[in-house]
Amino acid sequence: MNKIACLDLEGVLVPEIWIGVADRTGIKELRATTRDISDYSELMRMRLSVCDQNGLTLQDISEVISKMLPLQGAEEFLSWLRERFQVVILSDTFYQFAYPLMKQLNFPALFCHNLEVDDSGRITDFKLRMKDQKKQAVKAFHSLGFQVIAVGDSYNDTSMLSEADKGILYCPPQNVIDEFPQFLITKDYIELRAAFS
Ligand SMILES: [Mg+2]
Repeated sequence: MNKIACLDLEGVLVPEIWIGVADRTGIKELRATTRDISDYSELMRMRLSVCDQNGLTLQDISEVISKMLPLQGAEEFLSWLRERFQVVILSDTFYQFAYPLMKQLNFPALFCHNLEVDDSGRITDFKLRMKDQKKQAVKAFHSLGFQVIAVGDSYNDTSMLSEADKGILYCPPQNVIDEFPQFLITKDYIELRAAFS
């Protein structure tokens, strides 16, 4: 069966990581998302400078993330999906952050980015592996002879969803629903399973 399922991570399987960090550290500026600052690199530079100002190291952030849980039902949904499709998670987060959550999801394949960290644990920079990697991954899977079903919740997923053979929105905000009426909308894992069946 030459079909690959490409899933976004945050908002589809796990909560928004930075919002969790903001809530648990009480640092309000870290609640900003791509809805507030649309340029992801600019948003990340802001986040890292806020971490610096507050003396937050990678270890501090990892500790916070390790207390976070996948969305309720995510693990079961993912197991169900992995029995039926090859599954790849396409995310704009970083390997260093995702680890504790991926562990709880039994380590599916994850394509994301890397942080640069100095010996003291200070996050000095981030390296996006490539521009628009979600869309490029779908293109690459096509070139390998796969059909792709993609699932995402937000703006940064829409180019991936457009490139896929089938694009599914999972619990998207209203403005994304209004702007992208061409994608199927699902609002829980039961509906998402049905969309894959
Ligand atoms: Mg997302």
